[in-house]
This record gives sequence, structure tokens and C-alpha cells, in this order.
Amino acid sequence: MAVEKVVAAVVDEIRSAGLVQLEVSARHVHLDKECVEVLFGKGYQLTHVRELSQPGQYLEQERVDVVGPKGTFKNVAVLGPERKHVQVEVSFSDAFALGINPPIRQSGDTKGSASVKLVGPKGEITIDEGAIVALRHVHMTPEDAERLGLVDNQVVSVEALTDRRTIFPDTVIRVSPNFRTRMHVDVDEAGAAHIAGFALGRIIK
Ligand SMILES: [Zn+2]
Repeated sequence: MAVEKVVAAVVDEIRSAGLVQLEVSARHVHLDKECVEVLFGKGYQLTHVRELSQPGQYLEQERVDVVGPKGTFKNVAVLGPERKHVQVEVSFSDAFALGINPPIRQSGDTKGSASVKLVGPKGEITIDEGAIVALRHVHMTPEDAERLGLVDNQVVSVEALTDRRTIFPDTVIRVSPNFRTRMHVDVDEAGAAHIAGFALGRIIK
């Protein structure tokens, strides 16, 4: 059997068993058009460096500084494409260092979230809201959701099968044909469960 076929069979087996690959999201920023223009100049277009594990999502070449009342993170990654609303995703450790108090939110739900200042090469902007700690979640294809009997927005627990096994309750399943099946945690969660390199989690309904 060709290696590709073996790999495909293993991946299929992993999915059927309710296992999901765990990925760690470091702090990053999604910019809207207004922010791009203030930080990088009028009419500026972000430059894709590489596609992320989720199709159509990119690491951009551009970086910004994220500034809070107590601290600054320089050269924070910008993920594209541009969004309707600016969103800054940090861990609680980051939030402590910045001196802000962001809520735990699903991506896109930024109303009333924390304020930070963003600094780019051409300017700076203080966003009244947009800084959040991402609610841990599993991106899932409709095929995988169907196979596992899960639906969009269902809340499950996921056990990280690492050398520091940890169960993460309150994990949201998000289903879309545009997704690749992966669980996303932040660096605090990754540290707690020692998720480093390739790691799997087991979905518990
Ligand atoms: Zn995600």
C-alpha cells in the first residue's frame, strides 16, 4: 500500500474514533480595513505569507504592536484576510501583562470586549473593543460532525491525550464546509495540558 493510502487510512480511523488534532493559537490580530489603512497607509493591502490550517486564512507578512496600560507586545502576528471588525486574541497571561481584562468569547463576538492600542509603521489606533480571550473550539467539517453525531455550536469536553492529560469542558463545536477539523486552544491552555508538537484530543459528548 502506498504511504499516502496508509496515512489516509490512519487519519480516517482517528476521526471515526472521535479524536481531533490539537493546535495552539498564539496571540494574534485580525484587522479591519480602517485599521489596515491607519497602521500601514491608505489603500494598503496585506501580504499573505502562508495559508493556515483553516482554508482561506493566512499569516500575513505585516506585524503590529499591541499596547495596554501596563505592557506592550511588539511584532504581533496579523492573520488575514481583513475582517469586518478588528479582533485581538490574547491569552489571560498576555492580558495580565498588558493590563487589560478581556472576556472569553467566540471569534467574531467582540461587542463590549476590551480596548487596546495597535501600533503600525504608519500610525496607531486605539480600538474601544476587540480584545478577547478566544473560547476554545473545534473547527469541524460537516462530514466529521455527521460521523460523530455532533452539530454546530454543540458544547463538548475534549480530553487532551498528552503526558499531562487534561480535560477541557465548555469546548464549542463549529461546523462549516470551509473548515478543516482541528481543535484550537490558546497558549495558557496548551501549557496546562503540555500540548507541544503533534497532539490529539478525544471528544467527550
Ligand atoms: Zn480556531
